[in-house]
Amino acid sequence: MLYQSEAVVLDQDDLGENDKLATIFTRQEGLVRAVVKGARRPRSKLRGLTQPLTHGVFQIYRGRNLDRVTQVAVKNGFPGIVENYEKMIYARYLVELLTSVLPEKERHPALFDFFLTVLGCLQDKHDPWVVVRWAELGILKLAGFAPSFSQCVECGSQLQEPPVYFSLRDGGGLCGSCVSAAPATSASPENQIRTYGELIRVSPGALRTLEILSAPVTGWGHVSCPNITARGQVRSEINRISRKYISFVLDKRLKSASLVESIEDET
Ligand SMILES: [Zn+2]
Repeated sequence: MLYQSEAVVLDQDDLGENDKLATIFTRQEGLVRAVVKGARRPRSKLRGLTQPLTHGVFQIYRGRNLDRVTQVAVKNGFPGIVENYEKMIYARYLVELLTSVLPEKERHPALFDFFLTVLGCLQDKHDPWVVVRWAELGILKLAGFAPSFSQCVECGSQLQEPPVYFSLRDGGGLCGSCVSAAPATSASPENQIRTYGELIRVSPGALRTLEILSAPVTGWGHVSCPNITARGQVRSEINRISRKYISFVLDKRLKSASLVESIEDET
């Protein structure tokens, strides 16, 4: 059976002598691995269309094991990302995060629309750091993990007054009173860790930025790019929280994370 879907190519591998195996994020069917027959032949009409980040309308034949791409009407190739080393590293990282949280063939149009918006923002915005931290939180949120930075995950109070902590295990901010009230003989770190898992102290600046980056937005497909700046200490604090939280949630370290970290830590 043939179906048609808007889709974006996430990854590709050589297959046999002349073909490609592409991982495609389709709006209609979710993540699909599909063979692109003849994609490596010099005169094939499908040549070049399996490049990562190629966005278009794909015609796909549903096979018994693997699907097969039969035609592509290209809309965009995101040249502003593909031709920029740093943005491409970020894009590959977001692709790895996306494919780690979304099972194959699980339809998720909201995540598809959000991911396309993210690619547009990554292409257009000068500061990829803001786009990527916002994209991580959005992808996690749409996949069912929703870290809260506005209210304490334990007592529900607004997180304003320092000290505020982030609990990896509870996936959100904790107010100082809840942390110091952790049942214990004293408020010793060991007892708090037993109650809340590993805690990371969050400064007011980082908390405010995280709250903006993770703000609930209706209609994820129509969100606009984040328009904030963050510098120095706030950036490194947020890097630390997001790296630890993502490793915790996925229970693994993303392969592309070290490359991202090397760019972020040198600036
Ligand atoms: Zn609390």
